Amino acid sequence: MTDLHRLSIRELSEGLAGAKFSSRELTEHYLKRIAKLDTQVKSYVTVTAEQALAQADAADAAIKAGTATALTGVPIAHKDIFCTQGIKTTAGSKMLDNFISPYDATVVAKGKAAGLVTLGKVNMDEFAMGSTSENSFYGATANPWNLGHVPGGSSGGSAAAVAADLAPFATGTDTGGSIRQPASFCGLTGLKPSYGRVSRFGMIAYASSLDQGGPMARSAEDCAYLMNVIAGHDAKDSTSIEKDVDDYVANLNGTAIQGLRIGIPKQYFNVAGLDADVKARVEESLKKLEDMGATLVEIDLNMTEAYVPTYYLIAPAEASSNLQRYDGVRYGYRAENPVDLMDLYKRSRSEGFGAEVQRRILIGTYALSAGYYDAYYVKAQKVRRLIQQDFLKAFESVDVIAAPSAPTTAYKIGANLSPVEMYLGDIYTIAVNLAGLPAINAPVGFDKDNLPVGLQLIGNYWSESQLLSVVHQYQQATDWHTKRAAIAEENA
Ligand code: GLN
Repeated sequence: MTDLHRLSIRELSEGLAGAKFSSRELTEHYLKRIAKLDTQVKSYVTVTAEQALAQADAADAAIKAGTATALTGVPIAHKDIFCTQGIKTTAGSKMLDNFISPYDATVVAKGKAAGLVTLGKVNMDEFAMGSTSENSFYGATANPWNLGHVPGGSSGGSAAAVAADLAPFATGTDTGGSIRQPASFCGLTGLKPSYGRVSRFGMIAYASSLDQGGPMARSAEDCAYLMNVIAGHDAKDSTSIEKDVDDYVANLNGTAIQGLRIGIPKQYFNVAGLDADVKARVEESLKKLEDMGATLVEIDLNMTEAYVPTYYLIAPAEASSNLQRYDGVRYGYRAENPVDLMDLYKRSRSEGFGAEVQRRILIGTYALSAGYYDAYYVKAQKVRRLIQQDFLKAFESVDVIAAPSAPTTAYKIGANLSPVEMYLGDIYTIAVNLAGLPAINAPVGFDKDNLPVGLQLIGNYWSESQLLSVVHQYQQATDWHTKRAAIAEENA
């Protein structure tokens, strides 16, 4: 079969189970595509062909033996922030260019246990700090819809790989939008789960109170399959919740949209810098949801102006603390010929970290330093609580909240926005992380340059199943999620 990359996760699962094709055939098909097309997309940092084929053979044996799960033999790409035993894990940084983890992240281990085949590790902004994937030591990744544009970030490699059909689905992480914004820029469905739903064990830390892993795929149904594997409590992550997981796939077939009250925050649609095409596509998608039985309710989210300053204090503060461990001593990059210990620390960190990471460490260290701590960090935590309360109040009268995922479509590679311009692009995503809520991006059309636009739906705590169902129902009635970039149409 030459079109295996066109199949959904459900079709892959059924095809493998029914012996229409083997996992080896499927894996070879994807590896061929990567070899041919990723020279243009540059989504993979590491391709693990040999291991993938061994995993595929084991999957084929399990399918024959009748011990397969729904996903046995299905390939996946992991964001290079998830530790993979025996395979390089770089977090997009020179600091970890030589790092081979002695263990698997829980998300990776769960994937392996379910029989997923790892195609490789995909590119990202260094330590997940950024919105373009250009802040990677390994260079920029291209947006499959227009190779001169970025795929978004920080999970830009995950988004680009899936959008170019170089992986059927991928893992991503979202500290302030890094699943939703690249999904939006690349025309994908991406779910940021509630904080605590997916284990952070073995996920390289950026801002620990905000970080959360989740699925990036072509549809809500594909995301649901991956959620069924990765969600759940993990004794190795004390912030993961001891709460039953839903069967995200089984729950998809419902009437999620009938009677759904969708909150439309007044403040969100008046943001300066909201692109006219993005606004129009999002409004059209809301109209469609209304036609399908939802009610649109105007709501207030009064804390909107505080989102960017609050996030850009808390995230760098936690980053400055988390990134202390890269000292050139235990692992990671070490400067050559240090004259003394202080020189070793200083030069290892100055040479090993890129500019954006250093900027965040400086901001965070400043905000946490004695004398400024109360004025900045403690205050930001108080504002964070107000932001959360703002959402909880809204959820008293609505079921989900709608927003764009990003104010614009994908930027040009090399657009060189100032840090503040770049941070302002996170306006719609970061509050969700500050509050710990789940949210999903769904593709809802294109701008005048044929770049994808995304709708974001924010849910109350633990409503992942509801978000996936709403988007699934929408995708049953529309075909935006079936559109493919030209490069994805190419055969290897
Ligand atoms: N763009 C945001 C940042 O740079 C979000 C990144 C993320 O979610 N990892 O912090």
